[in-house]
Amino acid sequence: MHKTQMGRTRFFRLLFSTFLIAIAITLAPIKMNAQTTDAGFGPSNPFYAPSTLPFQAPPFDKIKDADYQPAIEAGIAQKVKETRAIADNPAEPTFENTFVAMEKSGRLIDRVMEVFNGVTGSNMNPALQKVQDDEAPKLAAMQDAIYLDGKLFQRVSRIYEKRMSLHLDAESLRLVEYTYQQFVLAGARLNDADKTALKKMNEEEANLSTAFISRLLAATKDAAYATKDKSALAGLSDAEIAAAAQSAKDRKVDGWVVTLQNTTQQPELQSLTNRAARQALFEDSINRAERGGANDTREIIIRLAQLRAQKAKLLGYPNYAAWKLEDQMAHTPEAALKFMDAMVPAATANAQGEGKDIQAIIDAQHGGFTLEPWDWNFYSEQVRKAKFDLDEAQTRPYFELNNVLHNGVFYAAHELYGINFKRRTDIPVYNPDVQVYEVIDGNGRPLALFYCDYFKRDNKNGGAWMDEFVGQSRLLGTLPVIYNVANFTKPAAGEPALISFSDVTAMFHEFGHGLHGIFANSMYPSLSGTAVPRDFVEFPSQFNEHWASYPAVFNHYAKHYKTGAPMPAELAAKIKKAETFNQGYLLTELLAAAELDMQWHTMGADAVVADAGSFETAALTKTHLLLSTVPPRYRSSYFLHIWGNGYAAGYYAYLWCEMLDDDAYQWFEDHGGLTRANGDRFRQMILSRGNTEDLARLYKTWRGAEPSINPMLKVRGLAAVKPVK
Ligand SMILES: [Zn+2]
Repeated sequence: MHKTQMGRTRFFRLLFSTFLIAIAITLAPIKMNAQTTDAGFGPSNPFYAPSTLPFQAPPFDKIKDADYQPAIEAGIAQKVKETRAIADNPAEPTFENTFVAMEKSGRLIDRVMEVFNGVTGSNMNPALQKVQDDEAPKLAAMQDAIYLDGKLFQRVSRIYEKRMSLHLDAESLRLVEYTYQQFVLAGARLNDADKTALKKMNEEEANLSTAFISRLLAATKDAAYATKDKSALAGLSDAEIAAAAQSAKDRKVDGWVVTLQNTTQQPELQSLTNRAARQALFEDSINRAERGGANDTREIIIRLAQLRAQKAKLLGYPNYAAWKLEDQMAHTPEAALKFMDAMVPAATANAQGEGKDIQAIIDAQHGGFTLEPWDWNFYSEQVRKAKFDLDEAQTRPYFELNNVLHNGVFYAAHELYGINFKRRTDIPVYNPDVQVYEVIDGNGRPLALFYCDYFKRDNKNGGAWMDEFVGQSRLLGTLPVIYNVANFTKPAAGEPALISFSDVTAMFHEFGHGLHGIFANSMYPSLSGTAVPRDFVEFPSQFNEHWASYPAVFNHYAKHYKTGAPMPAELAAKIKKAETFNQGYLLTELLAAAELDMQWHTMGADAVVADAGSFETAALTKTHLLLSTVPPRYRSSYFLHIWGNGYAAGYYAYLWCEMLDDDAYQWFEDHGGLTRANGDRFRQMILSRGNTEDLARLYKTWRGAEPSINPMLKVRGLAAVKPVK
């Protein structure tokens, strides 16, 4: 449910996008790029001009791996040239010739990077990997060339200072304030020597992030659990065993291979009856990036954390988190930490209670051992069956993927917002697993394209996420082209994809991000759709999860894939009831990951970290989250969100957004639930607004009050806990 990751921002989106985060300056390397790019880039390159396909969809039938690098280099050169022209404009700075001009610049680099980020995240290969490695520092330098350009910042500042006298409309005023803040956070006010130092740090950070991502991808692939003994897989379903056999075949090895998800716990641990196999799979997962050798990530993350602390110091902040949260809804690390600390006692107490229930089952079965983390899901599934009598194998036949998509995810959006979906088989895709739909508004107006790519592949990053191939902007005349990616187990050829209810929820989640992009209705690309702070971006997605179990929606999609019979009411009630199950564990593993993130990113610039493992243990001890049976959802060494995906000092945002989504859903419940009137109001006041207004104010205007933590505590079963001072 909280396993997504995504990029953000439009004009500055490269800054936060899948593989780099950086700022620095000196135009020298950039000019060099400009000279080297002309060769090899011309009209035959599919990125040369905007796509002529509907919605400017990427022409994947024409794009070859070799097309990316020349397009990226030409795009960087174009962006730098356009930015130079804005900065050097002899005319007095105006909103139009500075801010609007910046919004219009960089069409080529945006066009190619949006596609490149998409395919490198979900369809990576060695050629693309090489381009990514080569271009990361150049893209970082491009960001620097913009943010640390003194002349450009002077123009930005001039407009910022007199913004109130310019009679700008609200969105334009917001653009001025937002852009100015981004410049300042990026170091625009530093002196030249410090800018040079910052540039070096940003380059190193971008390179380290890229190295982390590629090592982790390789480590996760290598660490897959392999066995030649079929009895080790006892307990897995026929479909899971077939998938493991297929994975072995794909890798050209004998036997079975269980590939790893990016989380610590693995889905197969729920059903493997062989305890030694459970332990082996779990240890493969938790040690994946700490095995020494070429794919060990520990040195990288120590250096990244130090570097980020030093960078924050240079920029005038006590630590990286303080710098990073400046433009977020929470605003300070203290606010985020206070919010999390208050939940720790209840979460861990509940987890320990759940652990006792599990130990009781082990003892009743004369297991003769103490609960270990690799046993947790296996026995908790038995507790679930005993307490809730719910067997996932009974529910999967009611969750056939395509049916869930059409009659659940799309249906809920239709009922709430009046939109319709039409399959488009004429739009080219980057992999045969990808499906494309056109999204049409209630009045027949085309709204967006939506791609979905749901099945796990070895060359795909773990987890699930949403992003865009084209962002919406009235200024640019573009409509959104959105995609959702997940890692569901692919069924054998000809078999239906029967997914778990947690997968169903993930589909609603990612489509919630999708709606935030689809309904975007902004003038400026920088403020459009999902270009919002991290601690707001998960609000629309987590909010959309609520509809997965809303009776009128659930009953519409939860039908047996063979007979079409609705799920028996008794079974449906059990799913609903089981949603409260294991919440202590789930919240604890999430808090542990979020606290790890904050501890790594609140260390001072002079802190010395000798060993990543010791740092992790100390961080979890300090935050009262070191539980032998509840490891963090991600250990530091494979925490992709914070080392590679722009969520550094931002993982708390999932919980912060949960406060918002539960509070928002409470409003719907208080106002008649799923109705077009409620949906249209939410679309109008929240989903279409992007970052065009201060988000705390945006929320309060819609809600009629500040967000309350009470609905979240109720949903999590923590209502009785007194707040910790
Ligand atoms: Zn998400």
